[in-house]
Amino acid sequence: MSEKVLAALKVGPSTTELRELKLPEIPPDAALLKVEVAGVCGTDVTQYRVPLRAGPLIMGHENVGHLARVGSEFAARKGFKEGDLVFLEHYLPCLSCEWCHMGEYRHCPATEWFYDPKAIRYGYTSMDTAPGLWGGFSQYVYLPINAVLHKVPDGLTPEEAGIATPMSNGIQWALMDGGVGYASTVLIQGPGQQGLCCLMAAKQAGAARIIVTGTTRDTRRLEVAKAFGADAVVDVGKEDALAVVQKVTNGRGVDVVVDCTVGAGTAPVLLGIEATKRRGGTMVVQAEGNQEFPSFPIGRLTRKGMTLKSARGHSYRAVELALHTLASRRFPLEMMTTHRFGLAEVDYAIKSVGGEGAPGAIHVSVMPWR
Ligand SMILES: [Zn+2]
Ligand SMILES: [Zn+2]
Repeated sequence: MSEKVLAALKVGPSTTELRELKLPEIPPDAALLKVEVAGVCGTDVTQYRVPLRAGPLIMGHENVGHLARVGSEFAARKGFKEGDLVFLEHYLPCLSCEWCHMGEYRHCPATEWFYDPKAIRYGYTSMDTAPGLWGGFSQYVYLPINAVLHKVPDGLTPEEAGIATPMSNGIQWALMDGGVGYASTVLIQGPGQQGLCCLMAAKQAGAARIIVTGTTRDTRRLEVAKAFGADAVVDVGKEDALAVVQKVTNGRGVDVVVDCTVGAGTAPVLLGIEATKRRGGTMVVQAEGNQEFPSFPIGRLTRKGMTLKSARGHSYRAVELALHTLASRRFPLEMMTTHRFGLAEVDYAIKSVGGEGAPGAIHVSVMPWR
């Protein structure tokens, strides 16, 4: 193994530089991941634009790779060996709080990078925190003892396993948080990789009717939604989405709404409130940032006895279910894995997910050895 690592560093807002770094020592309680695939997600698009909070950092938090080195203590305590193909969660949890004991690492205070500058999370942590290899847009990633790994099931390529993050969010948000199950009716807003994964989860769980909405920009994504089993797809710029929901559900409205339209303003939330059934519906919303919501119709929400939940990350169990769902080959995943780029093209890869690079992007992979 070469003692050098090639990595794409974010050195400022929307600015990336390719750098050669030194491969760190791997102590007995650590391991080293050879990155095969780092997925690019919508959060990367927004995070890429913001100024650095500390020194340069390696982005990339949806990582799949082979274990290149495994320390003896890491191997003994975690049950992994060199050569294993693994999916790495982006949380680096404390492993001792109540959330960690439940496999809910997303809620562990140690992973709260947004509020705690000392919290470490893959894809968001600066090079100032030793040994610096905290992101997947790099040939190698450093794994301390609290890294959370999942074995990739046989038969899945690293690129397909790279869908594990949006897929586990889809299972978490649609099924575990939204309560979608047998015979449910579901409205999924936003047909990006996240919406498509909610669709797969709902389909696999036995939902009776699934409606997926998008905009004119999403024409291809809506076609993929159809191929993945959506009962109806709606271009909200051309059609009345609420009328379609009413038609497809025989005037009843849906049981569950999942809003995966980050950055589309308040309209999807308002549509979701109207689209749910008369009483007792649930809406799971993926809102990010400091969005204002003037005149939020709280009265309408309470009169309908609705439950509003926030979509945020995934549990350990959701990831395991995601990997098994992907490995079932029930869905034509190749329709989703649209683009792959090398380390020198990280800037373009992120812009492609944001709709400003390669056209038709759904799931975009950075492959550091290309
Ligand atoms: Zn992500
Ligand atoms: Zn914890």
